[in-house]
Formats: sequence, structure tokens, C-alpha cells
Amino acid sequence: GGNTETLLATKALTKNFGGLTAVDSVDFSVTEGEIRCLIGPNGAGKSTLLELITGQLSPSEGDIYFDGEDLTGMETHNRIDTGLSVKFQSPHVYENLTVEENLQVPLQRTDRDTETVLAETLERIDLTEKADVRASELSHGEKQRLEIGMAVTLDPTLMLLDEPVAGMSVDETADVAELIRSLHDDGMTFLVVEHDMEFVRRISDQVTVLNQGEIFRQGPIEEIEADEAVRRIYLGE
Ligand code: ADP
Ligand code: MG
Repeated sequence: GGNTETLLATKALTKNFGGLTAVDSVDFSVTEGEIRCLIGPNGAGKSTLLELITGQLSPSEGDIYFDGEDLTGMETHNRIDTGLSVKFQSPHVYENLTVEENLQVPLQRTDRDTETVLAETLERIDLTEKADVRASELSHGEKQRLEIGMAVTLDPTLMLLDEPVAGMSVDETADVAELIRSLHDDGMTFLVVEHDMEFVRRISDQVTVLNQGEIFRQGPIEEIEADEAVRRIYLGE
């Protein structure tokens, strides 16, 4: 469809953990073709929201729509088949497999042409020269890129990333920003949870601020950064 279509929408999405409401009746949407960043203080409910979208967690109340389809109650692997892909906070690579073998794992669930996709993906994540290196030998930044690559092999419509540059050097962070922007140029939509405001500024214009399980503010990065209430809750000022 066009570039103003809603790709992902949550309706009154709620997750309770005992007496704690981690996600509180959230109406949130992502438009096709955007890179949306989700920010907010520790414990705001960002990871919980992502895990509700992927199906790792099931909601206490509310619904999730993706590409017009109601995902609520669908298993994670079926959600992935509808075009959702995710990279969690810490790298989930297979340490004993090589870079190329890691990329082959998600590819096995598709009918995509393995040789072509492997070569393209290695090039994209800038690991062509390390194709035969074991994942355990990679730097933290290379592992994160490899895991993004594993998600990319599935050619998702929407890519969810939870803190993709956590623990990275300035150079590694710049590499990941460039990778996301190049995938975006090729039509991929992103929802990115991130703390690093420099990184958020590099990749995104629209930002959603979550606080205590609720959407606190939403808007262009310059407005969000200048907002005094956001600075108080998020930047601790
Ligand atoms: P964020 O990713 O924004 O730091 P989380 O989504 O991880 O926040 O957590 C939101 C709130 O939910 C926090 O108070 C956290 O302690 C709580 N929480 C998250 N996961 C669980 C769980 N599995 N059981 C109980 N409480 C949880
Ligand atoms: Mg988190």
C-alpha cells in the first residue's frame, strides 16, 4: 500500500504482572515506511510492549493488529510468518556456529534462495570477510549486526529492535545506524527501543515516549528533546 498506511496498531493493550500494570491501555501505531523510536525511563514498559507485539507475552487486555490482521492470540512463529521480525536486547546468536551458519538458521524456515540471500545479507551487515568465523570470536558490535542480519534474512515488513546499540562503541553505533537506514531505504519499517538519544536522532524523526506503561508524549525528536516534562521523567532533570 501507500506510505501513510497503518502497519501496526495496538488497541487498549494492557499487561498486568500481579498488581503491577506494565503496559496500561496503550493505543499505539506505526505507519508503513517509518522508523519509529520508543524511548522512556527504565521500567516504563518498553520491552513488555515489544514482547506483547511479538507474542512472547500475551496481553491481559486489548488487541494487536498487524497489516490489517488481528495477531492477538497468535503464536510468535506464526506472527513471524506474517512479516514481523525481532531482535531482542541481548544477542541471541549461536556461539558455536559460524557467521554464515547463523544466517542459515532462520533461512531454513523460508523458501528464499539461500545462496543469494546469504551473500546479500553478509554484504549488508559487513561480515562477508568473517562468513566462516565462529560467532564466539566476534566483537559485541559484530554479534549485534549478525543478529540483525538473522532477522533480515526473513525479509520482514516490520523489524522490531530492542536496544540494538546497548553497550556499543561510537563507531559500532554509527555502523548500526547506517545499516538501519539502508534497510529503511529498501522499504523496511522499524520500531526501535533505544536509550541512546544521539542514535535516536540519527535514525528517526518521530518518537514515542512511554512512562509508567502509558504513552506520555509523541512527536518529532526536536520537540521531544525540548519538552521539559520529558526531560524530567526521561533525562532525570
Ligand atoms: P523497560 O523495557 O521500559 O525498561 P519493562 O517492560 O522491562 O520496562 O518493565 C516494565 C515493568 O514491568 C517494570 O516495572 C518491570 O519490573 C515489570 N516487569 C517486566 N517483566 C516482568 C515479569 N516477567 N514479571 C513481573 N514484572 C515484570
Ligand atoms: Mg527493556
